[in-house]
Amino acid sequence: MSILIRGGTVLSASGAHAADVLTSGERIAGIAAPDAGLTEDWTRRADTVIDATGKYLLPGGIDVHTHMEMPFGGTHSVDTFETGTRAAVWGGTTTIIDFAVQQKGQSLLSTLDRWHQKADGNCAIDYGFHMIIADVNDSTLKEMDACVAAGVNSFKMFMAYPGVFYATDGEILLAMQRAAENGSLIMMHAENGIAIDQLVAQALAKGQTDPVHHGLTRPAELEGEATHRAAVLAKVTRAPLYIVHLSSEPALAAVRDARDTGQNVFAETCPQYLYLSIEDMAKPDFEGSKYVCSPPVRSREHQDTLWRGLRTNDLSVVSTDHCPFCFNEQKELGRGDFSKIPNGFPGVEHRMDLLHQGVVAGELSLARWVEVASTTPARMFGLYPRKGVIAAGSDADIVVYDPAATQTLSAATHHMNVDYSAYEGMDITGKVDTVLSRSRVVVAGGEYHGSAGHGRFLNRELSQYLL
Ligand SMILES: [Zn+2]
Repeated sequence: MSILIRGGTVLSASGAHAADVLTSGERIAGIAAPDAGLTEDWTRRADTVIDATGKYLLPGGIDVHTHMEMPFGGTHSVDTFETGTRAAVWGGTTTIIDFAVQQKGQSLLSTLDRWHQKADGNCAIDYGFHMIIADVNDSTLKEMDACVAAGVNSFKMFMAYPGVFYATDGEILLAMQRAAENGSLIMMHAENGIAIDQLVAQALAKGQTDPVHHGLTRPAELEGEATHRAAVLAKVTRAPLYIVHLSSEPALAAVRDARDTGQNVFAETCPQYLYLSIEDMAKPDFEGSKYVCSPPVRSREHQDTLWRGLRTNDLSVVSTDHCPFCFNEQKELGRGDFSKIPNGFPGVEHRMDLLHQGVVAGELSLARWVEVASTTPARMFGLYPRKGVIAAGSDADIVVYDPAATQTLSAATHHMNVDYSAYEGMDITGKVDTVLSRSRVVVAGGEYHGSAGHGRFLNRELSQYLL
């Protein structure tokens, strides 16, 4: 099986050039300049020819932060691996890395087995796992090495959520020491949960129960403080560090300071922090609950800072933290008590489009769009050059993107298994036209041609940023 995509503009982290792309089997066989004289021969050889005139060809998006069917307070995030990966590929994402969630008292390897049972055979696109460590002890520290051997070499810890996932500074230090030895990457949810829990209790005692108080009780300073503390612990242990879902100026300043002194500290942000704000969380009639996630969406002035951080590479990745809960029955659990609103947000389908709006608005170059959405995620998490680039020998994960098409985001048209859109009514310039996953056409002509079980587990190598 061979596909020729001709007439398009191939984008990479270093720029754009006109080229034809030929796939063979599951991989990219060759890339040729349109005037190199190969197009006729390649057209004869290909089983299928896709005309990409006027369109971009970009390496498939890689979303390194998703939570499919994640257990949360007696309920689950509503996208399964099947529905969530299908929605992802509609939006031009061809790889996800999801979080296996250790519960206290369970082993890391049995947790990993359970996540394989959920995902294997159900994904439309390729997928990998990170491991959430909720319980640091001698045995789980040893198991970190076994996870690395099983292709799971990034471990998320929490400075937030006391009593649930919260890790003490001492526990973080121990896990970082282990990561420094086995080459893995510690990912950090950096918010000072001990202080935040006091602010939450005070607000509720005053009768401040509306969704907006979720944001007001998690000030940006407490994200900045935790980010700095995580960076200091990483420095002492000589471990690399990756800050997840960075949302604010103080946190970005902490990352920048660490990087300026030569530390391997990296950070991602998410589209919600670039586009949404605390004004959304203040919407009446409990509408604000739709925007409740942690860290919270901030006041508008943080957004400019985050776009700048993406340009200066203090922010090197954009992921979604996709963790959808329906408004009806799930978000509504928190009516009368904002602290009971399930934290999380649907987003896996719209990341590529929302970042393209950054290109349209002049915030990002085309090359930087591809870099933060695909190439750097691949390098950061040990998938490059198999993923993250259109190059001979790489997996044929290719998005044909029409930069001139327009669309309006809405729950009525999206493919995520959730009853609202956080971007309802937003007009977007640019749209996915065709998506290939390992040379299989999964989306084309406004139709889905994929199947659950096409996606394979990715046994990841160590981060290529650390070698
Ligand atoms: Zn998350």
